[in-house]
Amino acid sequence: PTSEAQEPSLPPVQVVVRIRPSLDSEEVEVPLLRGEGGTVRLSAEENCEENIADRDCRRVRKPQDFRFSSVFGPSTSQEEVYQGLNIDELIAKVAEGYHATVFAYGQTGSGKTYTMEGYRYRVHADGPQVCIDETTPESLGVIPRALRKLFAHLEHLQESDAETESSVSISFLQIYQEKIYDLLNPAPLPQGVGPQEDAGLRLRWDSLRECFFVENLFVYQCATADDALRYYNAGVHRKQMATTSMNIASSRSHTVLMLSLQRRSHVPGDDQGVLKEVTSNLTLVDLAGSEKAAASEAAERFKEAVNINQSLFVLRRVITALSRSGRDEHVPYRESKLTSLLQHAIGGKGFMVMLACLSPANKFYEENLSTLQYASQAA
Ligand code: ADP
Ligand code: MG
Repeated sequence: PTSEAQEPSLPPVQVVVRIRPSLDSEEVEVPLLRGEGGTVRLSAEENCEENIADRDCRRVRKPQDFRFSSVFGPSTSQEEVYQGLNIDELIAKVAEGYHATVFAYGQTGSGKTYTMEGYRYRVHADGPQVCIDETTPESLGVIPRALRKLFAHLEHLQESDAETESSVSISFLQIYQEKIYDLLNPAPLPQGVGPQEDAGLRLRWDSLRECFFVENLFVYQCATADDALRYYNAGVHRKQMATTSMNIASSRSHTVLMLSLQRRSHVPGDDQGVLKEVTSNLTLVDLAGSEKAAASEAAERFKEAVNINQSLFVLRRVITALSRSGRDEHVPYRESKLTSLLQHAIGGKGFMVMLACLSPANKFYEENLSTLQYASQAA
């Protein structure tokens, strides 16, 4: 045995489940959903015995167990989730030049945005009207915590390595019906122009870096975490405005926050002589609600659902292909906007977290089952 303690290494893919607490409006029931250790146990509805002809019931007569890297129950705090997702370690990896991507997956109302952002509050001053609420630090989600940690970590690195200079830039976009909209464009939103008329931004291939990029996307340099949070809040505000002015159903859109870190090492004593330049991304994705379109919805709505499912569906196929890790496996990145954009980050030697969010109420049995099955593909 060696005397040196082995540092636990960060797994390239972590699949984690969070079950949110019951909301006041949700009645307390015998819970059919339990999370313990690394296991989620989902039990069938109780009236299954009498209802044997029911197709859904027959399928799930006994409890089903699903295993994950971690499972966070309803009483888990935001801080515990942040620690449990190993975000600090991910940030250290990003500073070393790796890409890291976090996806929040689950039906609408399952806690994706709460986990990623925390609470929002409204202000009626000049600034953005909707802000992450930093007055209740315990409720802060992954994004504000990660932003603060990223800048603190870079400052720390700067102290020990003065020859390496870092810069951080931010971009923020949403994908709706397979169209890309910039959340940090300072121009007023088009009025009365919906996704049907608006083509959105184009994805272009950068042959030098071998990745896709979004043409004409605004990218801002941030000197501090406060800068980054200001841009983030402005983007959240724009997203909310787009809900009305462009008729975008925000629960059906994917939001993608990209923090791009550039590390430039200089020839010692010469700040003009660049030895090496490394760019890496921390990407935080709040995915569209995973629920299926209700059968009664209008045809147009249905088309929309098909498109959204396309991004979620292709993401699942991409993750499945990656988890098989066979070199010859075809990974269908280019079949959706989301996976095209993230190809360089989730392929290769990057790090990924899939956070599956569950709602505790029994009426969400079907959606929870579907979320657990989706997440299991990635595990
Ligand atoms: P989603 O983004 O998946 O649609 P939200 O994050 O908006 O879901 O959560 C739905 C509701 O549940 C919100 O009112 C949110 O504040 C609340 N909520 C979600 N998760 C938690 C949690 N862990 N603790 C307290 N409230 C939560
Ligand atoms: Mg949300």
